[in-house]
Amino acid sequence: MSDYQNILVAVDFSETADHVIKRAQDIARRNNTGLTLLHVVEYVPPIDIAYEPVISSSWVIDEELLAKQAREKLDKICAEHGLENSTHIVITGTPKYEIVQYAEENQCDLIILGSHGRHGIGLLLGSTANTVLHAMPCDILAIKTGD
Ligand code: AMP
Repeated sequence: MSDYQNILVAVDFSETADHVIKRAQDIARRNNTGLTLLHVVEYVPPIDIAYEPVISSSWVIDEELLAKQAREKLDKICAEHGLENSTHIVITGTPKYEIVQYAEENQCDLIILGSHGRHGIGLLLGSTANTVLHAMPCDILAIKTGD
């Protein structure tokens, strides 16, 4: 029996994503299992109540359109990696919380993410990887990205 049977890889569309996906593919192959690729569309409120409203209140974010574009992009990236038959999931929310929630609800036994992505390399372990590591009981693999 393979070590891992339900592997989740978090894909953020940053320039490090290809490297993370390739490592995940390699691990999935060696465990003789498939991959679930998850992208979270990050919702950023247009106005923070701590500041003056600098953006018109008529400015509307089309969440459905964002999610549709994200799904197309995820499908394209997966096709480039020969992962058409893997499971592709797009969720809207805060990446670190949505990754944890999806992994819990779907009993993932390994979560693979980049040590750093779009939020930069200010910390030893980036904020998303750090939160997921502390929140989940399953194994977490943070693929080293950046220095
Ligand atoms: P960061 O916290 O931005 O440094 O990102 C670290 C890693 O978390 C990335 O390499 C991804 O694997 C994952 N991640 C960050 N943001 C997202 C997102 N919006 N959707 C899916 N995964 C993400």
